[in-house]
Amino acid sequence: MVFVSRSRAKSPWIFQVNAASCNGCLIELLAALSPRYDAERLGCVLVGSPRHADILVAMGPVTSKTLPVLVRAYRQMPEPKVTVALGTCAVSGGVFVGSHVFEGPVGKVLPVDVYIGGCPPKPEAILRGLMKAAEKLEGVRG
Ligand code: SF4
Repeated sequence: MVFVSRSRAKSPWIFQVNAASCNGCLIELLAALSPRYDAERLGCVLVGSPRHADILVAMGPVTSKTLPVLVRAYRQMPEPKVTVALGTCAVSGGVFVGSHVFEGPVGKVLPVDVYIGGCPPKPEAILRGLMKAAEKLEGVRG
């Protein structure tokens, strides 16, 4: 099991959920994965299904419409898994606090392991956060 945890930490697969972000955070995440910042050299790969992912990256404020999508994606991920809240909206709700559709920041609805602040966060900050998430993944027993 230690071997499996270590393998996952060395090549964490990422599933992203846009919980109602303006796409600014998503663009920066994609920039972090692009050849210029090259998160793939750390083994990070964006995957299309939560069933294949180790790290859930959630962006944007959680709204009444996106809440079930976010929770379903989290539940579909196999253990061990870690969650990253990306951007000010995901970390605290940002400018959406007080909106009638706002259900809370990501930390209110899911256990969050790594917070990456910024509006939007820089790719360098995203890389640092993903590395921290990978370290946590290694420490989590499935
Ligand atoms: S943190 Fe900023 S860039 Fe990211 S979703 Fe919110 S408003 Fe958009």
